[in-house]
Amino acid sequence: MKAYEQTLSYLNTLNLRGVATSLDEMIHDAEISKTSYITFLNTMFTTEISYRVKRRVERNMVGAHFPVIKRMDNFDFGRVKGMGKSEAVNLLDCRWIDNKENLLFFGPPGIGKTHLSIAFGVAAVEKGYNVCFERITNLIKLLKTAEIQKTSEYRIRRIMKSSLMIIDEIGYTPIEKREANLFFSLISEMHEKLSIIVTSNKSFESWAEMMGDAVMTAALLDRLLHHARVFNLDGESYRIKNQNKEV
Ligand code: ADP
Ligand code: MG
Repeated sequence: MKAYEQTLSYLNTLNLRGVATSLDEMIHDAEISKTSYITFLNTMFTTEISYRVKRRVERNMVGAHFPVIKRMDNFDFGRVKGMGKSEAVNLLDCRWIDNKENLLFFGPPGIGKTHLSIAFGVAAVEKGYNVCFERITNLIKLLKTAEIQKTSEYRIRRIMKSSLMIIDEIGYTPIEKREANLFFSLISEMHEKLSIIVTSNKSFESWAEMMGDAVMTAALLDRLLHHARVFNLDGESYRIKNQNKEV
């Protein structure tokens, strides 16, 4: 018993929590199947590594700040034009993130832009990438307060270190000139360093009006579109459709 307790204490000192939590089960299994010492050691390390990978994914899922978890499995591709199922499934391999490509979703409200962007983000987190999600209004708030507020500075730093940044709902609210400049600087900094997903209910042509500066908007779009796949989604709003169903 002493050896058992000491082992548990050593595991905790060494921060091997994965082994510590499944020690009883591992010993039990080894005794029953009479595994060799090397197999036991191997199981021990495998257990610790999968525990750490799982914990990291859980931490990153929380750190991404997804407003809700959405998956591709729950997306009805029959309802939307502009994104095919096989295309979406291919993108789940996240190669586009390795290549620092961007995905841009355009379309009317309720068409599934946010759903798709979150589903790609969740898939990326599960594959081990760091992802950040922000609505543009909050992203701008973070940029404006980064110099005076530690939490904002920390968030921006996390965004810059991530592999994928999702910027949702561009176009719902107009952006002041100073805000547009801050946003442009951020996109310039991100360009070719990380992948960006953008969702917008406004077409490119209306962005200049929304940002109040045609030259800067052109430069911004130039960066976003440099290595990008653009999806112009269309169809019936899912929100309205479901509302009608309930009536
Ligand atoms: P948008 O961002 O384009 O305004 P959302 O992605 O927020 O739309 O979609 C609104 C709601 O409808 C969400 O709950 C979303 O999960 C759901 N939804 C939209 N399109 C689909 C779809 N094709 N299949 C399943 N659910 C959908
Ligand atoms: Mg949305």
